[in-house]
Amino acid sequence: MSSSTTSPTGLAEAENKDEASHNSIEVQALRHQYGERVALDEVSFGVRSAEIFGLLGPNGSGKTTLFRILTTLMVPTSGQARIVGFDPVKQPNEVRRRIGVVAQAQSVDVKLTAAENLMHQGHLYGLSGTPLKRRIAEMLERVRLSDRANDLVETFSGGMQRRVELAKGLIHRPSVLLLDEPTTGLDPGARRDLWLYLDKLREQEGVTVLVTTHLMEEAERCDRLAILSHGKLVGLGTPAELKSRIGGDVIQFEAEHAETLATRIRQRFGVECSVNDNLVRLERSHGHRFAADVMEAFAGEIRAVNVSRPTLEDVFINRTGHRFWTEGRVEAEEPRR
Ligand code: ADP
Repeated sequence: MSSSTTSPTGLAEAENKDEASHNSIEVQALRHQYGERVALDEVSFGVRSAEIFGLLGPNGSGKTTLFRILTTLMVPTSGQARIVGFDPVKQPNEVRRRIGVVAQAQSVDVKLTAAENLMHQGHLYGLSGTPLKRRIAEMLERVRLSDRANDLVETFSGGMQRRVELAKGLIHRPSVLLLDEPTTGLDPGARRDLWLYLDKLREQEGVTVLVTTHLMEEAERCDRLAILSHGKLVGLGTPAELKSRIGGDVIQFEAEHAETLATRIRQRFGVECSVNDNLVRLERSHGHRFAADVMEAFAGEIRAVNVSRPTLEDVFINRTGHRFWTEGRVEAEEPRR
């Protein structure tokens, strides 16, 4: 019998330890406070070599804080991180040499050409002469900007500027690429492009990619995900694994008096359900059959019903009890005022 215990995220601890040695990024009991505010609360996970790993969470969930710690820009209150074996606090230069960073804030100089931006970046990493020129040409080719190499970046579209950022982040051949919400402000075409490029980078060069996002469709594209809420890790696994841990279907009933309906469903059917605004939500196998039974019992109280396979948003609700988004805005991760 294995003596491993299962953590709240569903990962066996022993399995965790075995894997630590193969991980490109290792985060252990990482905690960060800004004054009294806890932004990261004992977060632990590992990112395997050459995987695309997503940090998914609503605004304020701690993604940027974690990103800043991993990229050596901030020292955590406690806990440890390792990037390809190096500690960002104690060995920041070793880490910086091995990581490429695409931060949220624009880092390209729009008054320079694409090639000049890459030239400056290359110099920062000690590259020069013909090898640097070759590398610049190679990178511009990769991000499909060869024909715009000598144009000022200010004449580029948002997607093209982001591609220059990406090329900048990769000029020194890092083995780990970290991107903080890289598709913010990009149109759907440019967003898709960037993801195709990340796929290619991982497949052809074995680069490990860690990307933060608050977009479910992006999270779906990751090999594995860590889901954050209020600085806590509330889910870890592949998108399919996370969704499959929800038993069966997700059923939502829309009702004017949702709390009343929820109480009656609990009493009559003995099932657990949650209420968000005017929606009663529950998880159940054979959802259509159960939904029909509820409709028959409380027809007059239900305005609409929806039965669906679980999404990542359902995983988030299942783990936190609250929605990722509400009414088109971000679920209040801050205490409500
Ligand atoms: P995300 O990137 O997921 O939006 P952040 O890491 O930016 O989350 O923020 C996590 C929490 O820390 C939030 O409650 C946020 O308000 C708080 N926070 C972030 N930066 C600071 C700061 N410089 N000073 C104080 N609180 C901060």
